[in-house]
This record gives sequence, structure tokens and C-alpha cells, in this order.
Amino acid sequence: MSLLVSMSTNWATADDAVPGQPAESLPSARPPAQDLAAAASPEPAVAPDEVVLDATGRPQIEFPEPPVLDSHGPARVIALCNQKGGVGKTTSTINLGAALAEAGRRVLLIDFDPQGALSVGLGVNPHELDLTVYNLLMQRDVSIDEVLLKTGVPGLDLLPGNIDLSAAEVQLVSEVAREQTLARVIAPVLGEYDIVLIDCQPSLGLLTVNALAASDGVIIPLECEYFALRGVALLMDTIYRVQERINPRLEVEGILATMYDARTLHGREVLARVVDAFGDKVFRTVIARTVRFPETTVAGEPITTYASSSTGAAAYRQLAREVLAP
Ligand code: ADP
Ligand code: MG
Repeated sequence: MSLLVSMSTNWATADDAVPGQPAESLPSARPPAQDLAAAASPEPAVAPDEVVLDATGRPQIEFPEPPVLDSHGPARVIALCNQKGGVGKTTSTINLGAALAEAGRRVLLIDFDPQGALSVGLGVNPHELDLTVYNLLMQRDVSIDEVLLKTGVPGLDLLPGNIDLSAAEVQLVSEVAREQTLARVIAPVLGEYDIVLIDCQPSLGLLTVNALAASDGVIIPLECEYFALRGVALLMDTIYRVQERINPRLEVEGILATMYDARTLHGREVLARVVDAFGDKVFRTVIARTVRFPETTVAGEPITTYASSSTGAAAYRQLAREVLAP
């Protein structure tokens, strides 16, 4: 908890610092490579260029292959959350989920955005479904097994969502324990999964609070562009309030830099800024910008199957190892 408090203080500063600054006035992004290399290897005998730095400017780490599981559950529940749209929440939910499933984890993905993009990205047309997560939230006589769908990826299941969910935001207001509704309805299956990922809608309303109340962790995808940090202080404040009042288990798993373009100074500067602001909370894995991701949406499958040997697939596999690392 103290971590969260102190971090949100930093974040408020970072938030103030970024918007509106011309590129020239940003402190020149990596490399302070020599500094980092020196910090990592104090012996002067080691040449700085022997330390390989990752895209975040920190010494590269190889994450171990996750251990093989011989039984499953109880699930760790992670919400992918950012009230900004278009930052890579849905793409990361699908592809992290698929990479975790490939690593032998039983994974449930929850489409908690009325847009239904998660469902579409997995080849499901959610607008044709009779039962979605909306029915599960609002109707006591609907059980989760009636709503769950298998996907084309072994071990990866989907709780689909569609536009009906936008009504839940309003209807839940009058429910008893309205913030805990999602937690209550998914509880019966948590024993069957290792990881549950919740794809949140771009708002900090009651649905998102429900997702946070049901979660052990939050992954915050941040698009590597100028205003990336704007609004993160508010998001952190929401996370902190949910943690304090509703769900003391909740932690920030990490900040995930997405749509990174290493070829532009701008991209490198923004990533450096994110690392300055959030330090160790930034995942080592950085997701590069590539047209392969929009393509996968059209294909209706994760990048790990659509373009299995692409760098995008490799990045989400690394993220899966990072998330599972002890
Ligand atoms: P969100 O769920 O936060 O609104 P999405 O995951 O839907 O964001 O991504 C927004 C758009 O950006 C989608 O069209 C998606 O295909 C595209 N996209 C996501 N990640 C990347 C990436 N790493 N490189 C290029 N395009 C991406
Ligand atoms: Mg989305």
C-alpha cells in the first residue's frame, strides 16, 4: 500500500511534466546507457558495452521458461486497465492470454467492454450471442457455464461481452454490493483456471471498478506517444481507492509500454519518460508497433497463431514469462 501511495505521488509529477512539452525540451532519452551500464557493473574493468540493455534502458534479463503445471487453479485475476482508448488493452489481453495458454496455463479472458472487441478479436461475433457477461451480471438464473466459450486456442476460454454491457453500468447502480458483482459471478470457475484476464472498457466507471474489485493485479498498457502519462495519476487514484475500500489484494502488476517505435527519437523519448516516472513497475517487455496486430483482429485470432514466428508473437511470449516469473 505504501508503494502505491508513494508511486502515485511520482506519477502526479510525471503527469504534469509530460503534456505539452516540445520534443526538444525532454531530457534526451536513452542512452544514459553508460550510466546504467556502470550501475549494473561497478567494476571498472567491465566495459560498458558488455552490458546489453533492453528497450527500457535497463540491463537485459532472460525470463525463465515457466514451470510445467500438473494441476490448475486457483486463478490469479488481472485487469488490463486504462481509461484511454486505443492503448493496446484488448490486443494485450488477447495475445498475453494466448501466450499464457501456449505456456500450458488455463486462461479465461473476460470481455468487459461493451464494444466487444475482445470477442471479435477471437473470431466471435458477440452481437449474435444470446448470453454474454451482461446476462451473467444481471440475471441470477444464468450460470457462467452457459456463457463461457472455447476459443481456437487450446486452454484459452472466453466470457464474451457486447453492447448489452453498457446497460449494466446503469442497472448495477441499484444492486446490493454493486462493485462486487463481477467477482461474485466468476468465483465459481476460478478453481479451474490459472489466469483470468479482464479487458476493461476505456472509462473509470462502475464496470471498471467491478473489474478492479475482482482482480489481484492490474496491468496498465500505455501507448508510447506524447500524452501517454496523462490520466495515469487519476487511474492510480482509482486503483488506490478500490484497494483501500473494496479489495486490499489489488496490486499494480506493471506498466506495459505498447506501440513502441524504436526508430523514432520520439518513441525512445516517451519510453524513457515512462521508465523515469514508473521505474521498476515498467515491464521489461515492450510491445513494438507493427501492422501485424491490426491484421490479427481481422483474422480473429491471436498473433501467436496468426504469425507465430513474428516479433510481436515473441514479445507477448516474453511478457507471459515475465508475468509468470517468480
Ligand atoms: P484498446 O483496447 O486499449 O482500446 P486496442 O488493443 O484495441 O486498444 O488497440 C487499438 C488499435 O491499435 C487496434 O486497431 C489495434 O489493432 C492496434 N494496435 C494495438 N497494439 C498495436 C501494436 N503494438 N502495433 C500496432 N498496432 C497496434
Ligand atoms: Mg479495447
